Formats: sequence, structure tokens, C-alpha cells
Amino acid sequence: MSKYDPKSLKAEEFINDEEIRETLAWAEANKNNVELIDQILEKARPVKTKTGCVCSGLTHREASLLLACEIPEKIQRMYEIAEEIKLAFYGNRIVIFAPLYLSNYCVNGCLYCPYHLKNKHIARKKLTQEEVRAEVIALQDMGHKRLAIEAGEDPVNNPIEYILDCIKTIYSVHHKNGDIRRVNVNIAATTVENYRKLKEAGIGTYILFQETYHKESYEKLHPTGPKHNYAYHTEAMDRAMEGGIDDVGLGVLFGLELYKYEFAGLIMHAEHLEAVHGVGPHTISVPRVKRADDIDPDMFDNGIDDDTFTKIAACIRLAVPYTGMIVSTRETEQVRQRLLQVGISQVSGASRTSVGGYTHEEREHDTEQFDVSDQRTLDEVVSWLMDSGHIPSFCTACYRAGRTGDRFMALCKSGQILNCCHPNALMTLAEYLEDYASPETKEKGYRMIAEELEKVPNEKVRSIARQNLEDIRNSNRRDFRF
Ligand code: SAM
Repeated sequence: MSKYDPKSLKAEEFINDEEIRETLAWAEANKNNVELIDQILEKARPVKTKTGCVCSGLTHREASLLLACEIPEKIQRMYEIAEEIKLAFYGNRIVIFAPLYLSNYCVNGCLYCPYHLKNKHIARKKLTQEEVRAEVIALQDMGHKRLAIEAGEDPVNNPIEYILDCIKTIYSVHHKNGDIRRVNVNIAATTVENYRKLKEAGIGTYILFQETYHKESYEKLHPTGPKHNYAYHTEAMDRAMEGGIDDVGLGVLFGLELYKYEFAGLIMHAEHLEAVHGVGPHTISVPRVKRADDIDPDMFDNGIDDDTFTKIAACIRLAVPYTGMIVSTRETEQVRQRLLQVGISQVSGASRTSVGGYTHEEREHDTEQFDVSDQRTLDEVVSWLMDSGHIPSFCTACYRAGRTGDRFMALCKSGQILNCCHPNALMTLAEYLEDYASPETKEKGYRMIAEELEKVPNEKVRSIARQNLEDIRNSNRRDFRF
């Protein structure tokens, strides 16, 4: 039997089944231990330092205990601390992005995904470079600056060269004042050499969802194709980091397995990355299984309700305070609203999950990966965020200024976020307002910018930002950043 070791590079040692089971048993046994729960909650809170704020985070055991706790007032406290952490490190900014589906050709057999090989009635489609251009123009015309590209796994139809060509095309398109400034990549686990190529192509985050950390279930859910290999998939982030990618994004597809097991595995994965590479995941996503072409989510027994889902998000926020958290349009406006309160820092907006979907007026379902619950336009999402006091941000400054991996985390801890990320968010919001917003959103946005600019503590930064905002308003000059 393999032994738990967060520093090991072997999947079954850093995501260790026995350790997860012991963690869950310990959490269950202590879930009413109020004294211990209070200690853990206290440990999770941000502490002010001379230069900023620090948070110690929680171990997978501590965080699992909070997740097991069912005492209403303690859960309420978790939510409050989650929000406190979010505000300390990410402020009231919410980063916006959109997925771009390149190809739904896939050789895998994932039971929850309609792109699986045996699905013969889904229309297969792969964008040509001309079509990629057209999609990017449509995305730029909405106001998007950040994309997450998505593709099935198919070495013949979607080899790495195809993905690299698409990235090149995406970065080359500048329609009107449009620009895609960060391309994150969500493609199947691959080799160190390919990760190196993605790094050279200038990608932002490499995202790969684990789907499930439970090895036996993983193998059943991925019965055929290269994705069947649990170790190869689970060890992908180590290869990505070996290939030079600093920012990696984790996620679990909630609904496939027991959520407490998944949660412990997810936090252990984050601990492993920290132990081996000195930096944890850049983001964690929290997708839930959705209805899709030949997929009925009820086929899986482990669906979770909205309350549990919110609690999971809050516990992730407490455990890994510096990690960005993403919720997609798989969720409804109401659920997304709730999650914003407990630590989410990024949302997708106006997403189409079909291949070529952005260039079609009507939402098409024939090549779609899953049903989109939140179908609002980007303008509606931007306006909605501002209504609840959030600054919609299209900022991509950090990675373009080389603040990736541990350098990004250092910025988070330094207390300089208000002098850096805050004005950057406001300037990118102003670009959106000038180039793409409806008159109502524009008016609301400029009111917010005026108020929020006053929160920039450094006078010099504030004055430069004010000048840049004037330039954005009165000229076509764009892409200012600190
Ligand atoms: N093909 C790549 C891979 O194997 O990792 C990643 C791209 S896939 C388009 C992105 C993610 O969508 C998957 O990792 C999975 O978690 C999620 N997904 C697949 N089917 C889904 C469904 N029915 N509902 C919600 N999310 C789903």
C-alpha cells in the first residue's frame, strides 16, 4: 500500500486514499468539537502585518473538519471569514473571462461528457484558423480580454500544433480597440515538452480539472482513451510546472464522487504543489456536472445542493487564501451571487460552450459541451457585478508583467494590491465602458470608478491612474497598467 507523502511525485502518494479516509473519519468524529472548530476558524482569519495582510491557510484535515461541521452558527462564521479573506487579498474586484471551444473531437470515453468518442450523434467540429479569428472578433466585440481555450483530446484532430496555432491566431487579432491579452488553456494532460511549448506560446494559466480524486471511480468514469490513466492525469500539474508553467488551475467536477472525499483530495493537491514547487495553484474551479447532449446529471449519485456547494466554496477560500477561485456559467445567476460572497474571484460571462458558438446569433446546442445556466450578455453580467459592489475587471497585468507563480502570491501578501490591482481593474473597466457598454452600464461604471479611485492609497499612483482614465475616455489609447 502506498504511503502518504505530499512531496512525492507519485499520484497515489500525494493524493493518498488512506490519508483521505483517515481525514474524513477524523473530521466526522470531531465535527461537534466546538473548541477545535473555533481554533481552526481563528487560524483561518487574515492577520494584519506592517506591510499588508497574511493568512496561514488550513491543512486538508482542518479544512475537512470545517466542511464536516453542521453547526449553523459555525457555518455562518465560515462564510464571514471567507468574505474577509476575499476582501483582504482580492478586494471587491471580480475578473471576467470567456471560454472558447476550439474542437469537440475527442478520443476519450468520459461518462459525464458529451464529447466522448462513442457519442455518434453530436456534430463534430474543429475551428479553422479563419473561424478562430471570427470567434475572437465576436468575443472582442463583446469586450472580452481573457479567454480560456477548451478542446477535446484527439492527437490526430487536435494535436498540440493545432492548439499552438490557435493561440497564435488569438493573440494576433486586434479588432477596433479589441485585444485578447491572456489565453488560459484547458486541454488534456500532456507531456513536459508540450507544456514547454504552451509556455513559449505565452499562455496564462494551464487548467486541468481532476474530475475526481477517487482513483477507482476515476477509472470507471474514464473507461477508455488516454484519460483513463489516473496517475498520468493527476501528475499533469507537476509536468506543467516542470515545463515552465507557473500558474496552474485545479478543479473537481462535483457530482461524480462524494464531495468530502473530493474536497480533501483537492486541498491535498494544493498542498502537494506548494510542497514540491513552492507555490500552490493559481486558481481552483468549482464546476458541477450539468445536463448535456447525451448526459443526464442524475446518472451520477453524488449531486450536491446549493447550500453544500456554497459551504465547499467557503472552505476552499479558508484553506487556500491566496488562490483565485472561479465559478462558470454552469451555475445560475442566483448561485453565482451567493458564491461571490464567499470567496469567488473570477467569473465567466456570456459563455457559449459550442464550437463556433460566438459567431452565431442563436445559441446552438448541437456541438455544446453542457447547458449554460447563466445566459446573460456580458453587459448584463458587468452591470450585475457593479450592483452588488463588485468591480468587474478585465485586468491581465500580472502575468504580462511577469508576476506569475510565487511572484503573484508575493504581491497578494505585500499590501500593494490596492496600489496595483485596484487601479488596473478600474482602467480595464473604463476600456470596457468606453468601447462596449450600454449607456446605463457606462453611467453606472463611471460612478463606480470615481468612488473606487479614491481608495488607491498612494497619491502618485492615484494621479497616474486618473490621467490614464482621462486618456481612455478621450482617446483610443488603451492597455495602461501598473
Ligand atoms: N478535454 C480536456 C480534458 O480532458 O481535461 C478539457 C476540456 S473539457 C472541454 C473541460 C471540462 O468540462 C472537463 O474537464 C470537465 O470537468 C467539464 N465537463 C465535462 N462534461 C461536463 C458536464 N456534463 N457538465 C459540466 N462540466 C462538464
